[in-house]
Amino acid sequence: MVTKRVECIGESQTLEVKALESRLRAEGKNIISLSAGEPDFDPPEELLVFVQKSLAGVQRYEAVEGLYELRIKIIEEYNRRFDSCLEVDNVIITVGAKSAIALLFLALLETGDEAIVISPYWVSYIPLISLTGATVSVIDSSKDNFLPSIDSVLAAISPASKLVVLNYPSNPTAQVVSEDFYKELSTVLGGRDLIVLNDETYLDFVYPPLVPASIATYWNDNFAIVGSFSKKFAIPGWRVGYLIANKVIIKAVKKLQSHFFSHPSSIAMYGALGAFKVGQKWFEEKLKEYKDRRDKLVSFFDDLNWNYLPPKGTFYIFLDITRAKSLINVSSSVEVAKFFLQDLGISVVPGIAFGNDSFVRISYAVDNSKLTTFMERFYDWYRRVR
Ligand code: PLP
Repeated sequence: MVTKRVECIGESQTLEVKALESRLRAEGKNIISLSAGEPDFDPPEELLVFVQKSLAGVQRYEAVEGLYELRIKIIEEYNRRFDSCLEVDNVIITVGAKSAIALLFLALLETGDEAIVISPYWVSYIPLISLTGATVSVIDSSKDNFLPSIDSVLAAISPASKLVVLNYPSNPTAQVVSEDFYKELSTVLGGRDLIVLNDETYLDFVYPPLVPASIATYWNDNFAIVGSFSKKFAIPGWRVGYLIANKVIIKAVKKLQSHFFSHPSSIAMYGALGAFKVGQKWFEEKLKEYKDRRDKLVSFFDDLNWNYLPPKGTFYIFLDITRAKSLINVSSSVEVAKFFLQDLGISVVPGIAFGNDSFVRISYAVDNSKLTTFMERFYDWYRRVR
C-alpha cells in the first residue's frame, strides 16, 4: 500500500523500549525519564512578551524564505561571531532544524548518490537520506575517540559522494570539535564537488573553557549549516530553524519549501525574532545550570568508576554499558534500556538508535530532583549486583 520509499525507512529500533515505557507508565510505575531531547526550562520572558505583542498583525502569508528581519539577524550574528561574510540570501528559515535537513537532503541527493554520515549519528539523518533514494556510508568515529578524523572522511569519499553530514556539538556523544578542525576541513574539503553540512543545533551548548566554534569561520561555498531556536531558547514546539548555504542551494530549498510548507508559522518566526531581544545573561545562566548537572553526573559515574564519554557540550551523557551488559547478562543496548526501565524505573535511549550498541544516551535536561532519584536508583542497583 505504501511506497518503497517509505518502506525503506527502517523502523525505529527503540520502538519496543518506548512501548514498554508507555505500558509501565499506564500501570502506574514511577518512571524517571532521562530520554528527552528538549530543555526543561521555560523560554525567556522577553521572547514571550515579544511574540504576544506581535500576534495581532501576523495572520497573513509571509515570504517563503521566512521573515526578512529574522534572516538578517541570523546572518549578522554569524558574521559577527564567526567572522564570516554571509549575506541574507544565504539563509532560509525552516520548520525547525529538522525540515532544513530534510529539504537540504532532498535538494542534493537522488538515487545513485551517496551521503557520508559519522556514527554515532543523530537519529533522523539516515531515514531522511534513504527517502531521497541515496545510499549512506557510515564512518564509525568510535575508532577515533568519537571525533571525526579528516582522514577517515577522505577515505570514505567515493565518486558517488555528494554530501558529508557532521553534527558538532554532537547529539548523542556530547563531543565538540575545535575551530582548528574546521580550518583543516576547509583546507581539505573546501571547494570540492561535494557539500559539507554541519548541524549546529547545539552550537552554544559548549562548556567553558571551550567556546562555541562554527564551520562558518572557514566558510566555503560547498559548506552548509543547519541551526535551530529549539534548544537554546527552549521553544522546540514552535518549530523554527534555518539553513545557511550557497545561494543556489537556498533557491532550491526555497522551491521545495514553497510546495511543502509555504514557510514556518509566522507566529513562531516572530517568536524567534524575539530571541534576539534576550540578553546574553539568560542563556549563560541556563548553561551554568546544565554544567552543574553535568558535573554532578560525571562525579557520580567517576565515583563508581563507570565509563562514559566526558561531555563537552549539549545536555547529554553517552554512557558506556559494557559493564551493565555483563551484570545483567544481555547483549544489546535495547535490552539494557529495557532493564533500566523495568527494574530501575529509568528511561534512557539505547545507543543503537544512534548507531552504537555499546552505549545509552542520558539527557540531563531534567530538574535536580529527577537527577538525584536517577542516581539513587542506579547506585542502589549497582551496589547490589557489583
Ligand atoms: N539536529 C539535532 C542534532 C537534534 O538533536 C535535533 C533535535 O533533537 C534537531 C536537529 C532538530 O531540531 P529542531 O527542533 O530544530 O527541528
